[in-house]
Amino acid sequence: MTRQAIGASRAITSDDPIAGVKHVVLVISGKGGVGKSTAATNLSMALGRRGYRTGLLDADIYGPSIPTMFGVTSRPFSTDGKSIEPLERFGIKLMSIGFLLDDPKSAVIWRGPMLNGALQQFLKDVNWGKLDFLVIDLPPGTGDVALTLSQRASVSGAVVITTPQQVATDDVYKSISMCKKVNIPVLGVIENMSWFVDTAGVKHELFGSGGGQAVADFAHAPLLGQVPIDQSVREWGDKGTPIVQSMPDGAIASAFMEIADKLVQAVSERADQVESAGPPVIDRGEKPDGKRRLPVTR
Ligand code: ADP
Repeated sequence: MTRQAIGASRAITSDDPIAGVKHVVLVISGKGGVGKSTAATNLSMALGRRGYRTGLLDADIYGPSIPTMFGVTSRPFSTDGKSIEPLERFGIKLMSIGFLLDDPKSAVIWRGPMLNGALQQFLKDVNWGKLDFLVIDLPPGTGDVALTLSQRASVSGAVVITTPQQVATDDVYKSISMCKKVNIPVLGVIENMSWFVDTAGVKHELFGSGGGQAVADFAHAPLLGQVPIDQSVREWGDKGTPIVQSMPDGAIASAFMEIADKLVQAVSERADQVESAGPPVIDRGEKPDGKRRLPVTR
């Protein structure tokens, strides 16, 4: 498949911090270690390969993996002392807290407000320029970061990463429910680590099967694709060249190209709905028992 038109942009207001970005795609997972950053990285590379101008923001502040996966050790710079230039690798614009840490092994200890401040800066003060897609790799689990981002700039939607187990997907369901509550459309689901093919060509479903489709059904969203377990994914990730770049003709790269094509289709189909969707609405009204619980109503 070649480059498809991506339809209407997300809703961009006059105070949007990234007004030059047509689509913002959040990559989320219920828990860590399911391959969220690997998926965000290779999805960005696949969109880039299709000719879309793509940026990747590593919002996984507590466990930034993007510097390693893209093999980037340099620091972003500023030409005017105010805004930050994103780094660029394999044609993808990149920003990560990992680029700013003196010691990549040191822990980032921030309270919520600092985290939110940093994220807003990553949107507002980074010169993302004109992009077709800004992919955002979110920390696993909780919704704070998604909420902060969606209040600051409208997002096109989220891609949920899961593994194939039918059980133990409660965390994934929670993250989908979080998306619904804060009015972020789920664009699709990627099932990672779906199977493993041994040297004799035999397929093993190490983590069971059907989890990705079940999650997609729950989210009323398409299953964008299944990515097998392959040692080379980890090896190339550790070496700093995403597999879509290092083995562009392999099965994993093909899976990500297909996922990117389906995502573009989902984004285009959802564009009309996203345009009419505003930021989340918080009900500040008093409840009959006199207590205020501030639920998110939409
Ligand atoms: P998360 O962001 O969800 O914590 P990562 O993307 O960092 O997960 O992946 C966790 C580890 O699993 C990494 O070492 C990564 O290289 C590896 N990995 C992810 N997906 C695959 C895959 N399909 N095959 C083999 N290794 C994978």
